[in-house]
Amino acid sequence: MTQPGIESLRKIAVVGRGTAGSLAAACVSNLLSEDDYELHHIYDSRIPVIGVGEGSWPSLVQQLQQLSGLPHEIVQQRLKGTRKYGIEFEGWGRRNRDFTHYFAPQQVSYAYHLSADLMGDLLQESTRAQHIDAKVLNISRADGDAQIEFEGRSPESYDLVFDARGFPREHDPDEHIDISFIPTNRAVIRRCPTIIEKTRGKPVQQHTYTRAVARPHGWVFVIPLTAHTSYGYVYNSSLSGLDEVESDFDALLDADGVTEFEQRAVISFPNFVHRNIYDGAVARIGNAAAFMEPLEATAIGFAQLQIGMVLHMRLNRPTEIHERDVPMVNRFLINNVLCNGLFVGWHYSCGSRYDSEFWRHARDRAWPLYLKVTDPAEVDCAALSKFNSMFELLNQAFVNEADWNRRCGFPLSSYSQMAQGLGSYSRNLGPQPITG
Ligand SMILES: Cc1cc2nc3c(=O)[nH]c(=O)nc-3n(C[C@H](O)[C@H](O)[C@H](O)COP(=O)(O)OP(=O)(O)OC[C@H]3O[C@@H](n4cnc5c(N)ncnc54)[C@H](O)[C@@H]3O)c2cc1C
Repeated sequence: MTQPGIESLRKIAVVGRGTAGSLAAACVSNLLSEDDYELHHIYDSRIPVIGVGEGSWPSLVQQLQQLSGLPHEIVQQRLKGTRKYGIEFEGWGRRNRDFTHYFAPQQVSYAYHLSADLMGDLLQESTRAQHIDAKVLNISRADGDAQIEFEGRSPESYDLVFDARGFPREHDPDEHIDISFIPTNRAVIRRCPTIIEKTRGKPVQQHTYTRAVARPHGWVFVIPLTAHTSYGYVYNSSLSGLDEVESDFDALLDADGVTEFEQRAVISFPNFVHRNIYDGAVARIGNAAAFMEPLEATAIGFAQLQIGMVLHMRLNRPTEIHERDVPMVNRFLINNVLCNGLFVGWHYSCGSRYDSEFWRHARDRAWPLYLKVTDPAEVDCAALSKFNSMFELLNQAFVNEADWNRRCGFPLSSYSQMAQGLGSYSRNLGPQPITG
């Protein structure tokens, strides 16, 4: 098959070796044949990767098999992974009832719980690149190309640069859409002993779920790997102090019968999407492009989509229309993040079993901002109307087969499961006539 854009991908750089950068470098190696391109994989070994990111979506299972060329079973073992069939919500919503958000088709489709570091190593093995350990000072577009300035090295020009340097250093309202209707901004991470029974030499086939446990100051994820169990308390640092969060974290571990843990990190994060993810020469990916808290484990999926979209457009579209594609690529990617954000924010709008300051803030002050944040006049995309249309479908007496595959970030089946579980068939606030 002819690839009209191949000439525009002769010299590529990926900056960053976290999950997003490693995925991009492996995708480039997988997509282009060896003689066709030169790839520089650049990272500063003094700047650590985030290293959390242990929940994923089913699309990653397929992609890791394809990129590594290894059978699924081996990939899972290399990742010290388990098969994730969905998310178990404990204490969320209006009904005071626990429920599960399954991937579709239910009990068939699975993702991985995985070790982020090991996924990086696996991807490195399938990457053909020149590795450069250097600090990047600036990445910019110049005369249609991308230019990288280094500390202690001469600048270099590239046809395309993937900027995967992680979270932006500061929030810039001109450049970033602040997803302020999501009420959390910090996480405490603890590593606890594994609860998974292994059979030597075989991948664990047991169905596992990420637990999302509502707590007075936010919620806690519990991710079972074969090497350890990862716990993360996600909260809002302007509403709760670290001491009270740690003390409630201790109480949860006590209740779970966990007697030992290793304190891993306290991570602050923004909920945002960059207005200019791609400028025609530089593509921001991963946490540099967008992030939202990990309730639905969306981050790796965002990176997959950003990388796939940019490479697809550059390779398969004629060079002379690449420039015209730029606004469309941005609109598509921003729309995707905001659709996902609306779905995640809506989870909080129904409160939880706790009537605490955090949950009142989430429901009464944060969530109502969604209308302003996703106003089409502000964000130039249709995320809000798509979100509204999912509720119109949910409230119909009969959903036509043609609509079964509709999605707003997540598929209709996810909206339906969450609506049932949370006790809300509405994106609006106020009492809901849910019974049962
Ligand atoms: C609490 C929490 C839980 C999460 N859970 C999940 C989850 O369950 N599922 C999921 O999909 N995602 C999750 N994530 C997101 C996940 O962490 C990110 O998807 C992942 O870390 C991607 O990060 P990244 O590769 O963009 O950046 P990083 O991991 O921050 O990597 C940045 C890279 O850039 C390099 N770098 C930075 N600056 C420079 C420079 N100036 N010069 C050269 N190199 C540089 C660094 O050396 C590093 O290699 C979670 C995040 C948080 C905060």
